[in-house]
Amino acid sequence: MEACAVRRAFPRPLVALCVFAFVPLLTGASHRTANFVVDAPTTEMARTIAEHAEACRVSIAKAWLGQELPPWNTPCPVKVKLTRGEAGGLTSFGFNRGRVTDQSMSVEGRLDRILASAIPHEVTHTVFAAFFGGPMPRWADEGASLLSEDERERRRQDDIVMDLFGRRGDLPLGRLFRIEDYPSDLIGFYGQGYSISRFLIEMGGRPRFLKFVKAGLKVGWDNATKTHYGLADVRELDRAWRSWHRLASTTPPPRDALVIRAQSGSADD
Ligand SMILES: [Zn+2]
Repeated sequence: MEACAVRRAFPRPLVALCVFAFVPLLTGASHRTANFVVDAPTTEMARTIAEHAEACRVSIAKAWLGQELPPWNTPCPVKVKLTRGEAGGLTSFGFNRGRVTDQSMSVEGRLDRILASAIPHEVTHTVFAAFFGGPMPRWADEGASLLSEDERERRRQDDIVMDLFGRRGDLPLGRLFRIEDYPSDLIGFYGQGYSISRFLIEMGGRPRFLKFVKAGLKVGWDNATKTHYGLADVRELDRAWRSWHRLASTTPPPRDALVIRAQSGSADD
């Protein structure tokens, strides 16, 4: 996916990064399913996207949480803008007392890219928002959501990470973990978030990754690293990730290893 942003209304002050200039949407038709109401240029397109979003909601929640999300009280609105370009998206959340109070989504791009890239990515944000009940650290929210996208996009992220280690420059994980807002080098930030998320999930699975991120927010990243991955601290995790990356760059794992849609969806931890 070209890029995605998550906007959160509470408890953090409103942090908005509109990656795309969402010009007034040319909405022509609407289709409603149990958990989504999609506005798109045609009824058929709205139905296709809504049904795909429902399927993603089931498979992604099962993959990450081991079970489906309960039905939402209010369907999540999804605005669709069809373009000839790559996919992009924006999901906004309101939180109150550890719960999502409202959410809305916008996606744009070619239909095939919206289905393969933007919808799984944005739906993953909604699963994380339901699990955390508040803002998830940006690197994890974006990095792990990228893992839901198709092989083409994941290959692109792998290339970006190679570039990071080459000329673009990466951040020490201790700094990456503390970033609260989208930095100026969005592409590098997404790529590094994707790479460290993939590394942590390959080490310990998705449920452990979520526990680690939750613990990092509560007790600090060093403690969380020690508890959930048995490494001394974030500096050691940083070294382990770089070693893994060097190895992974020469002997890539099976490309389908992290495709959520291909999984049976059980929790592994
Ligand atoms: Zn995103």
